[in-house]
Amino acid sequence: MVRTKILLQGIFWLLVYVLLAAAPLLLLKIGEAPEGREFWRELSVALGFAGLSMMTLQFVLTARFKTIKAPYGADVVYHFHRQISLVAFALILAHPLLLFINAPQTLALLNLVSAPWRARMGVTAVVLLLVLIGASLWRKQLKIEYTAWRIWHGILATVVVALSMGHIILARHYLNLPWKQALWIAYGAFWVGLLAYVRVVKPLLLLRRPYVVEKVTPERGNAWTLTVRPQGHAGMKFMPGQFAWLTAWKTPFADAEHPFSISSSACRTDRLDFTIKELGDFTRTIKDLQPGQKVYLDGPFGAFSIDRHPHAPQFAFIAGGVGITPIMSMLRTLADRGDRRPLLLLYASRDWESVIFREELEELKNKLNLTLVHVLEKPPAGWTGESGFINQTLLERYLPKEKERNAIEIFICGPPPMMNAVEAALVRIGVPLGDFHSERFNLV
Ligand SMILES: Cc1cc2nc3c(=O)[nH]c(=O)nc-3n(C[C@H](O)[C@H](O)[C@H](O)COP(=O)(O)OP(=O)(O)OC[C@H]3O[C@@H](n4cnc5c(N)ncnc54)[C@H](O)[C@@H]3O)c2cc1C
Repeated sequence: MVRTKILLQGIFWLLVYVLLAAAPLLLLKIGEAPEGREFWRELSVALGFAGLSMMTLQFVLTARFKTIKAPYGADVVYHFHRQISLVAFALILAHPLLLFINAPQTLALLNLVSAPWRARMGVTAVVLLLVLIGASLWRKQLKIEYTAWRIWHGILATVVVALSMGHIILARHYLNLPWKQALWIAYGAFWVGLLAYVRVVKPLLLLRRPYVVEKVTPERGNAWTLTVRPQGHAGMKFMPGQFAWLTAWKTPFADAEHPFSISSSACRTDRLDFTIKELGDFTRTIKDLQPGQKVYLDGPFGAFSIDRHPHAPQFAFIAGGVGITPIMSMLRTLADRGDRRPLLLLYASRDWESVIFREELEELKNKLNLTLVHVLEKPPAGWTGESGFINQTLLERYLPKEKERNAIEIFICGPPPMMNAVEAALVRIGVPLGDFHSERFNLV
C-alpha cells in the first residue's frame, strides 16, 4: 500500500516534469504561426527550445522541495539533475550544429566581433554551459573546492539561462508576438526565482528556527557526535534514516551547508544527534563547536527509512564506516518503539578500534531482536568473526534463504566501492531491486 502510494507519487512528479519541459514548446505553436522554414532549420530550433526548457527546469530539481524529493530520495533527484543536464546540453548543442551543417554560411555567427547580439548571446551561453557541465563532471579531478564550485554553479546557471532568453527573444522567429516573449521571460524568471528562494528566502526562514549546540562527543573511528537542541521552536520531526543540511560557523546565507544523517532516535525531536567523521575542511571543525553556539538545520530530507516500509516483516542493514549513522537512527528508533521484528546488521569497519557505536550496538542487542555481524578489514590477532569485505558469499551466509528473501527490506550505506559491490551482489543473488535501498554520501 505504502509502496504503491510512493510509486504513484513518483509517476505523478515525472509526468509533471515532462509536461513542464514540453509546455514552452507547445506554447510556441499557439496563435499565429511564423512562416515555415526548411526541415533541418526547424528541427534545430525545436531542439534548442527543448534543451533550454529542460535547463530551466534544473533549478527546480535542486530547490529542495520536500514533496518532490519524497518519492525518490534526494540522491536520485540529484542523479537525475546530473544526467538530464547532459541530455539538455546535447539538445542545445544540436541546435547550432544542425544549423552549421545545413547552412555552412551560419558559421560566421561564431565570430563574436561581427555577429549580431542574438548570436553573441547564444554562443556565450553554450560556452558557459560547457564550462558549467565540465566543472561539475570533473570537479574532483580539477581540484575545485566544493563550496566554490557550488556558488559558481548557481551563478553560471543563472547567466546561461539569462543569455539564452536574450538569444531567443532577439532571434524573434518563434517569439514574434509580445505575449510569447513575455511568457518565456516569465517562465525563465520563475525558475531562476527558485534559486533566489533557495539562497535568500529559505535562509531567512532558517534564521528564525535556530538550534544550539548542546555538546560534542568524541566517537570511535575519528568521528564526533554533535548534539543540538531547537531554540524557541519545537524542532524537527523526521523519519529515522533521514538527513538535514547543517550550517555551523556562518549564517544560513553563506552557502556553506553540509548534509548529515540524523543519528539519534526519531522518537526524540527535542534533541538531535549528528555523527560526523573528520574528512575535510568542514568536518574537521565539528570538534571545535562550543556549547551554546548557534547552528542551522534545513531538513529533514531523504527516502532512506524503515518508516517507508512499515509492514516489512524484517529488516537487514548493511553499513560501512560512518555509513552507520542513518542506520543507527533506525536502530535507536526501533528500540525506543519496542519493535521486536528480526533485524540483521552487517557492519564493515577498518579495524576493531574504529567501529563507531561499538559499545551501544552491543547494548542494542538486548533491546532488539538484532543479529549483529562485524566485518573487519584488518581484524586483530585472534579475531574469530568475519573479516575482509562484505561480498556475495557473506551476504548469502547471513541473509534469509532465497524463498524468504522478498520478506526483507535491506538498507545499505557506506563508502561508494562497498555500496557498488553490495548492490551488484544483491542483484546477483536475486534480491528484487525494490527491496534494497541505498543512501549515498557522495551526492555531488
Ligand atoms: C545524504 C548525506 C548524508 C550524509 N551523512 C553523513 C553523516 O552522517 N556523517 C558524516 O560524517 N558524513 C555524512 N555525509 C557526508 C558529508 O556531507 C561530507 O563528508 C561533508 O560534507 C564533507 O565536507 P568537508 O568540507 O569536511 O570535506 P571536503 O574535503 O571539503 O569534501 C569532501 C567531499 O564531500 C562532499 N561535500 C563537501 N561539501 C559538501 C556539501 N556542502 N554538500 C554536499 N557534499 C559535500 C564532496 O563530494 C566533497 O568532494 C553525508 C552526505 C550526504 C549526501
